Amino acid sequence: MNFIRVSLSIVSLFITTTLFSQSDEAIFKSIYKTALTHGKSYDWLNYLSNQIGSRLSGSLGAEKAVSWTREELEKLGLDKVWLQPVMVPKWVRGAKEYAYIKSTEGKTTTVNICALGGSIATPALGLKANVVEVHDFEELDSLGRAHIEGKIVFYNRPMQPDVIHTFEAYGGCVNQRYEGAVQASKYGAAGVIVRSMNLRLDDLPHTGSMTYKDLPNDKRIPSAAISTNDAELLSTMLKLDPDLEFFFRQNCKQFKDVLSYNVIGEITGSQFPKEYMVVGGHLDSWDLGDGSHDDGAGVVQSMEVLRLLKETGIKPKRSIRVVLFMNEENGLRGGHKYAEEAKKNGEHHVFALESDAGGFSPRGFSLDCTDAAYNQVLGWQHLFKPYLIHYFEKGESGADVSPLKTGTNVLAGLRPDSQRYFDHHHASNDTFDAVNKRELELGAATMTALVYLFDTYGVHEISSGLKN
Ligand SMILES: [Zn+2]
Repeated sequence: MNFIRVSLSIVSLFITTTLFSQSDEAIFKSIYKTALTHGKSYDWLNYLSNQIGSRLSGSLGAEKAVSWTREELEKLGLDKVWLQPVMVPKWVRGAKEYAYIKSTEGKTTTVNICALGGSIATPALGLKANVVEVHDFEELDSLGRAHIEGKIVFYNRPMQPDVIHTFEAYGGCVNQRYEGAVQASKYGAAGVIVRSMNLRLDDLPHTGSMTYKDLPNDKRIPSAAISTNDAELLSTMLKLDPDLEFFFRQNCKQFKDVLSYNVIGEITGSQFPKEYMVVGGHLDSWDLGDGSHDDGAGVVQSMEVLRLLKETGIKPKRSIRVVLFMNEENGLRGGHKYAEEAKKNGEHHVFALESDAGGFSPRGFSLDCTDAAYNQVLGWQHLFKPYLIHYFEKGESGADVSPLKTGTNVLAGLRPDSQRYFDHHHASNDTFDAVNKRELELGAATMTALVYLFDTYGVHEISSGLKN
């Protein structure tokens, strides 16, 4: 046995012992410090938002984002980086939409609209019709064909301002956008205008997905969102002048599905390589802004989790994957594809965490798991408290990771402060300048901390993992 080798093993024994003897508190400190002093997430977001820009499925931006994130992950020295092919829908907005309100006296007022994702175009010269305002589908049903046929249905139920969890307020309204066209079409409506999903009064229309379900082509009607200010204006004008007309023109188009990819990177587990833990966000975005909050933030935070693990010297026992999902916004094809492949390959996913609620200050996590696993997380709550992260709830995780649910594993969603999220969501002001560097970094550190804990202690009841 030679002397150098003996010294080297003493050094490595020392390093290993030092790492393993560190308390969870000390490891948390190291994770947060690294994220806040030389984090990478903000620079990555700058590139993704300002050099690549919006990333609607099937667009050039989405394609560029796939290649660039793959290259960046390759630079991290992970054990594996690869692309997972997935077919995605391709919808294109076309020329900027145009709309105005025309009073019975002939005066016109232009208003701000945008086509909803998946909508058909109006006729080339636009669509002009009287308007009927409703607040929900019951009201629509009670009016019936006599009052709706040939008209534009205007859905104007606002997000409830007194709901503290703004995602709940969103959930209480979004059916107007998603299936408003299907409902209105039943009564022969000519088109649909939806109040933007936004708690603030401003001039920006917010897009988002909508469905025609199985409506035949001749029953499909064009649908657009109108800014909250203009929704208020239209509503007021309708009260004074019920016979006014609304004009809108949009030339969006749905193309055939195209090939795209989920981008995946992995640190292979040192003890339980066949137990997988996923962190992810979605790489696609809407096309009006650059998708910095939705979901550029989640993408760079998830990449940062793997970088922070490496940089802080944490060697995961389980295999940790970053998955940048394609097509969350208008199809969820990437999320389904990943889960389908995982099942086919017999991969056991014990944990999956998604960040897709904006890059704001992290408050905690929403957990979709067994009571036993939830109690396990509550037992770790004190570790997060010094970072002012103390909000833990049982609830939904994230759209892309939810197909991984087995009933025994843990699915989680990062829960940032949500008060300003819907000011930007799916609108042209979802841009890099709206994301705060420290808030973004705190989110990445918080995700890393939870991954560290689940990797160290295993998932309650189902993991074969050794405890520290
Ligand atoms: Zn999103």
